[in-house]
Amino acid sequence: MIIQRVVLNSRPGKNGVPVAENFRLEESTIADAIQAGQVRVRTLYLSVDPYMRCRMNEDTGSDYLLPWQLSEVADGGGIGIVEESKHDNFAKGDFVISFYWPWQTVAILDGSLLQKLIPQLVNGCLSYFLGAAGITGLTALLGIKEKGHVAVGANQTMVVSGAAGACGSLAGQIGRLEGCSRVVGIAGTDEKCSILVQEMGFDAAINYKKGNVAEQLREFCPGGVDVYFDNVGGDISDTVISQMNQNSHIILCGQISQYNKDVPYPPLLSPEIEKIQKERNITRERFLVLNYMDKQEAGVLQLCQWIQEGKLKVRETVVEGLANIGAAFQSMMSGGNIGKQIVSVSK
Ligand code: NAP
Repeated sequence: MIIQRVVLNSRPGKNGVPVAENFRLEESTIADAIQAGQVRVRTLYLSVDPYMRCRMNEDTGSDYLLPWQLSEVADGGGIGIVEESKHDNFAKGDFVISFYWPWQTVAILDGSLLQKLIPQLVNGCLSYFLGAAGITGLTALLGIKEKGHVAVGANQTMVVSGAAGACGSLAGQIGRLEGCSRVVGIAGTDEKCSILVQEMGFDAAINYKKGNVAEQLREFCPGGVDVYFDNVGGDISDTVISQMNQNSHIILCGQISQYNKDVPYPPLLSPEIEKIQKERNITRERFLVLNYMDKQEAGVLQLCQWIQEGKLKVRETVVEGLANIGAAFQSMMSGGNIGKQIVSVSK
């Protein structure tokens, strides 16, 4: 059977900015028949995520991520529909998800890599299982629960950087649901800031590309910052940490501003900021959602419940067509998305 797939065409280099041309669409073939234990799936949605940037390097710098190989098909989170199954758990027409979904239109996958999806859990919006009701939502929820020390009635102020992105837009809302009394976002455009405040219930949002972030933070967080959900690192995080309270907490979710640089993860704080962190006893422990997969099932159910109740507002930026996945990745890495970046593959 002839299919289309997207392979890694070139590496951007550890210090380079990824571009759409790092990926290449090509025709390929898969077997006409499937073997026992296998499932043939048609791809519906693919997820593009910042962690994929390190998979573009020969050495990912991480023990849990393998590099993509040149001229080999890329992979990541994906959702599809079963066309044929020789695995007991799946039947034709089932919707399924995998974290190892090849970027191709049709694929033969081992059934052990797949999980069945129940579309009703997300009001029929299947792609949410790659975002708000998937790893992204879990990252926000478990990051806050495991590292945030958020407590109802504690009158805490939370700041979220990368706030209009996939994780950030959920983290601010979940921070509020878990008990924070004030939630402030930092994002890169006025449109994003307005969505955060008007749609997602943030108390205020700061456009870090305009005006003085430190001054606006002081204005919007008059009692200082108790919890910082850090998606970006770099100068923005230095500014936030400088305004954090004694015994406060950083949720070290990601450091996207540093991903095109050849630096270790997590990057070290400057001596001046590290001094503040130590003197104020601010916790900054590495958080990795994959370390908490025993909490996945309960976490996803909680997220689905909030989505159904309308308590969690979800935004997606959907790009149509496998051919555009490289462009979608390039755009996401420079903040072109609002909410989760999704690629819709076939109708
Ligand atoms: P996302 O949707 O791309 O959101 C990231 C946001 O960061 C973008 O909206 C972007 O918008 C902002 N940004 C990009 N470059 C920036 C820069 N140089 N300076 C400041 N802001 C910048 O990505 P995501 O899926 O939400 O992921 C967010 C972070 O979580 C990433 O660092 C990712 O690696 C991490 N993550 C961690 C885990 C974990 O287990 N710890 C799991 C999933 C994701 P604006 O610049 O316009 O604001």
